[in-house]
Amino acid sequence: MTQIKKGVVAGKSLEAIKKELLERKKELEAQLADLYQMRNAAVGEVQDTGDQAQSLSLETLKISLQDNEIAEYNMIGQALKMIAEGTYGICIECGQPIAERRLKLYPNATRCLVCQEALEDSTGR
Ligand SMILES: [Zn+2]
Repeated sequence: MTQIKKGVVAGKSLEAIKKELLERKKELEAQLADLYQMRNAAVGEVQDTGDQAQSLSLETLKISLQDNEIAEYNMIGQALKMIAEGTYGICIECGQPIAERRLKLYPNATRCLVCQEALEDSTGR
């Protein structure tokens, strides 16, 4: 028996993708909450000078880590918005589906690889 697939982007249903994104979003929220807590705790410990230099580099590391999480969190937020609007996974330039591999890396991608490269080529000149 062959099943007719409806609303499928790159072999997966939007519902499944949305579920994955929501789960990842929840994970990131928990991680960010942890990072904030660690940061607050670290700030509390460093009050009376001492080895401040070491604490500072640790602090920088945590902040850059947090930046990555926040960046991913924002991408997921945008992707969920695009799913709601029905534009997720569709290239805004050519209207073709965006490759799943690309969407895995950039869930908020608005262009397929071909159009993205064409854009980068034209702006790079
Ligand atoms: Zn395209």
